[in-house]
Amino acid sequence: MGRMIGIDLGTTNCCIAVLQDGDAQVINSRQGERTMPSVVAFSDEGTEIVGTTAQRQAVTNPNRTIFGVKRLIGRKFGDEEIETWSEHVPYEICAAPNGDAWVRTRDGDYSPQEISAVILQEIKAIAEDFLGEEIGEAVITVPAYFNDSQRQATKDAGTIAGLRVKNIVNEPTAAALGYGIDKNRDQTLAIFDLGGGTFDITILKTEGGVFEVLATHGDTFLGGDDFDRLLIEYLLDQFEGECGEDISDDPVALQRLKESAETAKRELSSTSTTSINLPFIATGPDGPLHLRVDVLERTKVERLCEQLIDRLEAPCKQALADAGIVASDLDQVLLVGGMTRMPAVQAKVEEIFGKITAKDVNPDEIVAVGAATQCAIMTGEVQDVVLLDVTPHSLGVRVTEGRMSRVIEKNTTIPTSEKKLFATTRDQQDHVEISVYQGEDELVDNNSYLGRFVLGDLPQAAAGKVNVEVTFLMDADGVLNVKAREVTTGREASVKIAPSSGLSKDEVRNLSNRRRKAS
Ligand code: AMP
Repeated sequence: MGRMIGIDLGTTNCCIAVLQDGDAQVINSRQGERTMPSVVAFSDEGTEIVGTTAQRQAVTNPNRTIFGVKRLIGRKFGDEEIETWSEHVPYEICAAPNGDAWVRTRDGDYSPQEISAVILQEIKAIAEDFLGEEIGEAVITVPAYFNDSQRQATKDAGTIAGLRVKNIVNEPTAAALGYGIDKNRDQTLAIFDLGGGTFDITILKTEGGVFEVLATHGDTFLGGDDFDRLLIEYLLDQFEGECGEDISDDPVALQRLKESAETAKRELSSTSTTSINLPFIATGPDGPLHLRVDVLERTKVERLCEQLIDRLEAPCKQALADAGIVASDLDQVLLVGGMTRMPAVQAKVEEIFGKITAKDVNPDEIVAVGAATQCAIMTGEVQDVVLLDVTPHSLGVRVTEGRMSRVIEKNTTIPTSEKKLFATTRDQQDHVEISVYQGEDELVDNNSYLGRFVLGDLPQAAAGKVNVEVTFLMDADGVLNVKAREVTTGREASVKIAPSSGLSKDEVRNLSNRRRKAS
């Protein structure tokens, strides 16, 4: 069976932790660092390169260096966010036959699940080297606001990498587990998690070992990469203004700019000014051109990113309202994710929640530590701790005019079971089609489709005279069963909504076998 490890598979970096004799221990990368860049590259020789080594060669191999794949996982190529993202990455994003967003390189087309699997396989190998034993199982964390297909896709990535994914835990919940387990105090926490690609806000109560999520909200397309992107756009404009050259289509220049912008952003968290110097970034009619910004002020970057920082507010307010509390009810606000080191982000947190946040947390490691704790809860090593999470999005069925009638409201504690009664809308209607959706919009077309089934042989009667009771049952793993029952005859039909990652079971199995043979 092998040991179980906790994995924080971040957009920018990942972190591995394991519980050793009751203490969570972070496992260092091969370079001795506590996190590893979530980067995969394909070399000219056809080998896969992962982590720091992949990141280091990105400038010379920009089209085949894949970063931020978590932004693509479980998403459609046509999504607006994917379009924006594809304009800013040097690698190509393409549409898979089923419409999913995939990555195209000279070596072929890859699903985000496969790319993530390459990272997870490396994580598995690192942990095996460190522990000197086989790793069979893992707990992987995901943003709380991930929908069903993004969660399933992450699970499939684990399977392809040869890991049995025992549990998918929400990142903020894991952070609370990593934090609270030491403190063992009853309290109400807000976990503010701004990483490289996603933003989550979770309100959680701990009481006598029970960790109960009260509400969660977020934005799966708001993170450090967006801050970098705005800074890159500014630098591109400045350069074009000064030198008359548009270098936005040059993948090597873009990759160099990306690295410098990110470094500058980090530096500006501890200093008020920095500089950027990129010699030989392009060649103009009179020879080589250099990009130089002698003084880049923190306030300039804050102004550039003002809109992004403002976008953090609404989900926080909504989460507080959904939890039925006000900011002053909170005992702590935990900051998670590298972006929370930015002073302007911290100032926004204090503005929203009106309090000094818990500073004794390592924002890069706390999620992995919580995932390792969840491993220990699952194996029984840690007892008397119960995790009660919620479903982040509402679930419902399609009714007339393409509207969604909600059956399970967002932020309902799982497992849960909810019933709702529907009536026929046509005379002599002999069947009803139950189409299941996830999301908050009133119109199903703006939500995610999960599945459908038909309940036939309805009694013949006038419109509105036949009633069908629909039951939604969601288990603790978030797997949904939907049942429909005609009230007078008791006829039933049901479907298990197996969340789909876009890859079939066979495809996942084949990829897993291929990776096992290759390793
Ligand atoms: P995570 O996904 O939690 O690893 O967060 C990674 C993001 O945090 C990336 O966008 C980093 O650029 C950003 N980040 C890390 N350290 C800092 C820092 N000191 N100041 C600002 N942003 C940072």
